[in-house]
Amino acid sequence: MNTKRFICVAICIVMLATSFVALAACNGENITTSDTLYAKKVRGLSKDFILGMDASSVISLENSGVKYYNFDGNEEDVFKILADNGINTIRVRVWNKPYSGSDPSTEKWFGGGNCDINTALAIGKRATQYGMGLMVDFHYSDFWADPNKQMAPVEWAGMDIDEKSEALYEYTKESLEKLKDAGVNVTLVQVGNETNGQLCGEKATSSWFNVAYLMANGCRAVKEVYPNALRVLHFTNPEKVDNYAEYASKLDYYKVDYDVFASSYYPYWHGTLENLSNVLGNIAKKYGKKVMVAETSYAFTDEDSDFYGNTIGAGQMQHYPFTVQGQANCVRDVIDTIAHTKNGIGVCYWEGTWISVGGSSWEENRALWEKYGSGWASSYSAAYDPGDAGKYYGGCAVDNQAFFDSTGHPLESLKIFGLIRQGNKIEVKTDAVEDTTLMCDLNGSINLPTKVNAIMTDDSRREIDVTWNITESDLTRMKNNGVAKYTFTGIAGGLTANIYISMVEFNFLSNYSFEDDSTKTEIPTGWNVTANKPADELYVIKNDNDALTGSNSFHFWTSSPNSINFDLEQELTNLEAGTYKFSISIMGGDGGTVNIYSYVKINGVIVYKMEGFGLNGWQNWDTKVLENIQYNGTDKIVVGIHVECTGSGGGAWGNIDDALFNSVA
Ligand code: CA
Repeated sequence: MNTKRFICVAICIVMLATSFVALAACNGENITTSDTLYAKKVRGLSKDFILGMDASSVISLENSGVKYYNFDGNEEDVFKILADNGINTIRVRVWNKPYSGSDPSTEKWFGGGNCDINTALAIGKRATQYGMGLMVDFHYSDFWADPNKQMAPVEWAGMDIDEKSEALYEYTKESLEKLKDAGVNVTLVQVGNETNGQLCGEKATSSWFNVAYLMANGCRAVKEVYPNALRVLHFTNPEKVDNYAEYASKLDYYKVDYDVFASSYYPYWHGTLENLSNVLGNIAKKYGKKVMVAETSYAFTDEDSDFYGNTIGAGQMQHYPFTVQGQANCVRDVIDTIAHTKNGIGVCYWEGTWISVGGSSWEENRALWEKYGSGWASSYSAAYDPGDAGKYYGGCAVDNQAFFDSTGHPLESLKIFGLIRQGNKIEVKTDAVEDTTLMCDLNGSINLPTKVNAIMTDDSRREIDVTWNITESDLTRMKNNGVAKYTFTGIAGGLTANIYISMVEFNFLSNYSFEDDSTKTEIPTGWNVTANKPADELYVIKNDNDALTGSNSFHFWTSSPNSINFDLEQELTNLEAGTYKFSISIMGGDGGTVNIYSYVKINGVIVYKMEGFGLNGWQNWDTKVLENIQYNGTDKIVVGIHVECTGSGGGAWGNIDDALFNSVA
């Protein structure tokens, strides 16, 4: 979970023609430059390292009216724009028959780019035209295949494993031959997408042999048509380390002949880069396989642009801020990780070209998604996948992770693929500012912080000066308006900073509700317990029903008479001089004769005392407040509760919770 919230400030993207200059270097390659994007060089990056971009939705988007622009602001083939910015491989998914019906004129396409082999062919031709390789991603399904579903195509569903393997082999072969006949430069072929021990309706939990058999037959077809293409098997959830070791070992056991063990890596879900490198590196070492990241992405904003909610939004930020620079730094680090992992051959970004279809309303966009398949799923997909796609169909859920804005203009972060080869160490600036939260005592002073935490463009963290837009009259208002919450802004490093101020009755006691401790802790954190007689149970207990707030309370129970007799107390340190009040709550039963009181000790002597607490039954809390406590700011001050019971018959039981020590105006 991400505990820090950052305001994501979209970098002003300078679209001036001067900000991007493509120079012909002596080796004939373009050199990317940027005045605004910081890039740390990836050392030792090989020339043929795969810098891939999944562009599966482009044809559907273009049909929907989307246009792409280069850094000069001119409309251009998006594949040329990608190639000019360091992308050397285009990835495209392939579904068997992503439509219902068989008569082409009445076919109702499922969407998600309408990616059958003909769509892949169109994309492959354009990738080849601009000198890039094509990574073909066979799902062997009629629509999306991922760890949650690996449904066989409708036409294969009833087949036994031999028939299905033969069908898969033939389909792979025919599809690749189509690409080959058209001169498409296929460099990698994925046999299955995010398979995780399932493929094409077969499950490893029933038969690993069946899954491996399908993979082997797919790989066989690849070898026959494109002998030089790398055969890729694709899995996800690298954070489940044992799963990857298991997959690799089964593939080895069943002698599946493949080249690349590929993983998805989405920073939101998939653990650390260090772990990714370890799990893939282990497979590279043990089985001699090449490894790569077949899918990764990161958001440059938490805002949606196409009226269809996104997978990732506010609150899901990981290490990098949701900014154009944050996106670039994330991608750079994934590439750096794989480049320095044994047998690491490349990283492919997932759908950096998938942007809004550009309508001004959900209705307008929906019409385009339905007609051209430019959303993640159309309503027609219900024919194949009624439970998921057919229910939640709609637009693009990753437009905030693209490398183009909603009007088709490239983000500066697209240049990262080119810049990492040389590095681009420009002046470091503030990229994002952390939100500040402040809790102030109504009767104390409001001390505004003078610094805030910032993330810099080079991904370093700094404390920087802040100026708050808070006036004297704001401060007076906050002090006079009782318990309330306020939001103000300020300026830090040229960016807007937010501060959330809660005016509260500040509780000077720590661990006031015993939530800091695990169950059966005998001395709660911050507290002292003196057991004057030995009780059977005297400790923190975790049970919502026994707590006044939270889950924990301080519990007592004993089976014999006259053995509940203890003091629970806490010393208050660094307390300013002033007037205070102390409140504490108790509930319980079978007390017999009880002597329960709260107290304040000054220099070891009880000066203030509140008697008359009773054990009045389960969940019947007795709360008493000691008022008008005067404190001089220097003496030792301790507050507590004394509990003493004879027990009615046997022993007594009960719980203490919510100790509050507040200042009084
Ligand atoms: Ca969206």
